[in-house]
Amino acid sequence: MRAIRMTAPGVLEQVEVPTPTAGPGEVLLRVGAVGACHSDLHILDAPAGLFPVPMTLGHEIAGTVDQLGPGVTGWSSGDRAAVYGIIGCGRCRACLRGAENACRVVPVGGIGLSRDGGLAEHVVVPASRLLHVGEIDLTQAAPLTDAGLTPYHAVELARDRLRPGTSCVVIGIGGLGHMALQILVATTAVRIIAVDTSVAALDLASRLGAHDVVQAGPDSVDRIRALVGPPPDGADVVLDFVGADPTVTTARQVVATGGQVLLVGLAGGTLPVRPVADEPPTVPLETAVEVPFWGTRAELQEVIALARSGQLQADVQTFPLTEAPEAYEMLRRGEIHGRAVIVP
Ligand SMILES: [Zn+2]
Ligand SMILES: [Zn+2]
Repeated sequence: MRAIRMTAPGVLEQVEVPTPTAGPGEVLLRVGAVGACHSDLHILDAPAGLFPVPMTLGHEIAGTVDQLGPGVTGWSSGDRAAVYGIIGCGRCRACLRGAENACRVVPVGGIGLSRDGGLAEHVVVPASRLLHVGEIDLTQAAPLTDAGLTPYHAVELARDRLRPGTSCVVIGIGGLGHMALQILVATTAVRIIAVDTSVAALDLASRLGAHDVVQAGPDSVDRIRALVGPPPDGADVVLDFVGADPTVTTARQVVATGGQVLLVGLAGGTLPVRPVADEPPTVPLETAVEVPFWGTRAELQEVIALARSGQLQADVQTFPLTEAPEAYEMLRRGEIHGRAVIVP
């Protein structure tokens, strides 16, 4: 079968590999769709030794059950499923309470992270990683598993503060941000302020229900404060899906005293925390800063339910498998709107 593999650090190639077979407890899935994630670029760019090579990339997968390995029950050939990409150790405190995304064995294992992923015609996954998706189109189901799950988990962490009458600033209306907006609209009654550099992204944000949009620029902080109030007032929650120095700085300058900043994007920004009395604090007092990672299997089931009820839909741009390397280059150049989804 054809597969898109990292054959060496930084090298993504289309290669011919044997079709894998499902071992005990595993399922062979015919891949229907795979989302292209910024994390794949981080994996490609990572120094040698962090990730196995060669390895087929792709951790945002939906497909159709093809073959069952020995001992698998509850699934039949032809079932349509989304793949929960994380494979926690199953033994640590976090895994035992169902939070494999907080597994204490690092780097956490996963499909397309520690073993072959979905950028191929077939992929083998543990049966425990599959969730039924019903009639959702597979190009829609794939992005739910990361672009949908990650913001859903972040919103869950902020749920206590996302009460009617509060405000939430969402920075970065890309693959994850545009899903976050819909999750906020569907599950809260907060005022949503969307921030992005791109006019097209802000148009999408307005269509998806953002109450206000702010084009990022030198005056972002002033314009957001004009909407949410100046310190010590501000946004009750800030979701940063970029995570670069300028967005992290904006996040800490617009969050309210007692608010919450969630840094989801992995763009390498630094958030200084200095709670001292004789200098202006870098983060308002009583403010929580969190760095959510992906989500839990239970949350993925809820994300799928939201999609099945018609309240969550990914804005997708599809590519055939052969064009996967080009899709990643477009992602790197910031030319993808919504989510790039590869259809083998
Ligand atoms: Zn990802
Ligand atoms: Zn664990």
